[in-house]
Amino acid sequence: MHKKLIWLIVATLFMACNANKATVEADAQTDALYRLLDGNQRFVHQQARHPDESMGRVHEIASSQHPFAVVVCCSDSRVAPEIVFDQGLGDLFVVRTAGNMLSGIEIGSIEYAVTHLQASLVFVMGHENCGAVKAFIEGGDIPGHIKEIVDSIGREDEVRKIALNDAHRLEHVVNANALHACRQLIRQSPLLQNVFAENKLTVVAGVYGLQNGKVTLLGMEDEKMDYPLTQTNRVAHQ
Ligand SMILES: [Zn+2]
Repeated sequence: MHKKLIWLIVATLFMACNANKATVEADAQTDALYRLLDGNQRFVHQQARHPDESMGRVHEIASSQHPFAVVVCCSDSRVAPEIVFDQGLGDLFVVRTAGNMLSGIEIGSIEYAVTHLQASLVFVMGHENCGAVKAFIEGGDIPGHIKEIVDSIGREDEVRKIALNDAHRLEHVVNANALHACRQLIRQSPLLQNVFAENKLTVVAGVYGLQNGKVTLLGMEDEKMDYPLTQTNRVAHQ
């Protein structure tokens, strides 16, 4: 397993040692992250198990749902979260918009998943070569409501920090845009702030590689990104 991930898990567990209740909650968040990343490993190595797709599963979850994670990602047809994380019905609460952009309706959807369905992890997943980000970088006249998406990307503080002459501008803006969504969620949602303050929620960003199908966690290695919004990272910066 990736070194940073092991370190992240250890940090989570260390933090959680203070109380049993906190341990149980941190375990749930760590387990959720493991489930996603392990599923992605299976997908990458073409060992997908396609869990929770049976008619039995359909019946099992017909009356209620308990998704273990919220995934926020782009509407791009190549980044379907149930497939790239090898999960099934009832496992993920998914919010998708072009460029994984969040407005009130999307944040409300996430609030519902966290406060009503008890999802303990929000995973914001950007992806390589994102068309929405590309449109922002290329600029020019953009028609219709597509312009709202592109203009929103341009207003993000994290994106504005990326130099115009950055040799890897597309990649860095994709990352910054995903990290922005993490911060935006906590900043704009008092409901999520409360859950977060109780250590019942982890918010993480990652990026999906179109070439290799791999999801890589973001932010841990780049202090300039000021990425304080996971409990694990909060511990890391103490
Ligand atoms: Zn995209």
